[in-house]
Amino acid sequence: ESQLNPNYNFENFLEGDSNRLARSAGLAVANKPGGTSFNPLLVFGGVGLGKTHLAHAIGVEIKDKYPEKTVLYISAEKFTQQYIESVKKNTRNDFIHFYQLIDVLIIDDVQFFSGKTGTQDVFFHIFNHLHQNGKQVILTSDKAPVDMQDIEQRLLSRFKWGLSAELQSPDYETRVSILRNKLYRDGVEMPEEIIDYVAKNIKTNVRELEGAIISLIAQSSFNKKEVTLDLATQIVEKFVKNTKREVSIDYIQKVVSDYFQMDVSTLQSKTRKRHIVQARQLAMFFAKKFTKASLASIGSQIGKRDHATVLHACKTVDNLAETDKQFRKYIDDLTKKLSQ
Ligand code: ADP
Ligand code: MG
Repeated sequence: ESQLNPNYNFENFLEGDSNRLARSAGLAVANKPGGTSFNPLLVFGGVGLGKTHLAHAIGVEIKDKYPEKTVLYISAEKFTQQYIESVKKNTRNDFIHFYQLIDVLIIDDVQFFSGKTGTQDVFFHIFNHLHQNGKQVILTSDKAPVDMQDIEQRLLSRFKWGLSAELQSPDYETRVSILRNKLYRDGVEMPEEIIDYVAKNIKTNVRELEGAIISLIAQSSFNKKEVTLDLATQIVEKFVKNTKREVSIDYIQKVVSDYFQMDVSTLQSKTRKRHIVQARQLAMFFAKKFTKASLASIGSQIGKRDHATVLHACKTVDNLAETDKQFRKYIDDLTKKLSQ
């Protein structure tokens, strides 16, 4: 059993500036396993940036080109468990022997070897044997070798023999392509402005990017909900923690007043003119949504109202959002302005 996941391949590993080196090196290795100077190939980078995907893609590609080669993908954690088990059962030599017969060994998340001297020792011997025999080793890690801790020096120096290639956070263009590709594969259409919004707001993690678009796809296809910018902001918020810039209630009042071409003092006034009331209710709605202020505090800052008025405003906005298309557009436009 190779443990390879065919769903992780090169075709759906989209290229961008952030991953070009690692992806190209991976392809080079896949074309000539053991026959390039990229041995070992170590792919490193933060959480959710595609290390596991790329590691499988290399293995899948090799298996495709060289069906006779034995390719094994294993997480460092599982490798460690197997090793411990072999010690218990007195089969340590069998364990080593098994791994020394592999043509392409892919070990994911080698930072897991930190502090595990027995596992590091056994891996050192396996590595040397494979390397000397022209077999390919591919490793992934959440850190560059220089930053790894509690890994023996002799092993670290082996890690540096080949190529260490970093997966960085994807740039905006790559994020858009990843989202488009996902939508395309799922056969779902999504307004451009939604794709743009998600790509602009989820920046550091492809897994979160995918998670957000999957939630949006689910909302649109299962709940038959129209995917609006407002819904997108709610979903994105769940994925992006603490990175959101806190907007002030003053700023919200300013943006809403500008949008409706009135002064802030008009927005705050006691008038019951419909369009002014609506602007005021929208300001309250966004203050609740985008700040941590209490209803009472929102009310006192927006024309000295009480908390019940704010609550009523938020409910009114929610209702109008459902029933009134023009009003829906106000919310989307303002959401966009306030999220920039
Ligand atoms: P890591 O192992 O670095 O934590 P993963 O390989 O699990 O990250 O990737 C997280 C998710 O992001 C996976 O679903 C993967 O398919 C996807 N992904 C990462 N990079 C890309 C890319 N360049 N193109 C398409 N999907 C990607
Ligand atoms: Mg991983």
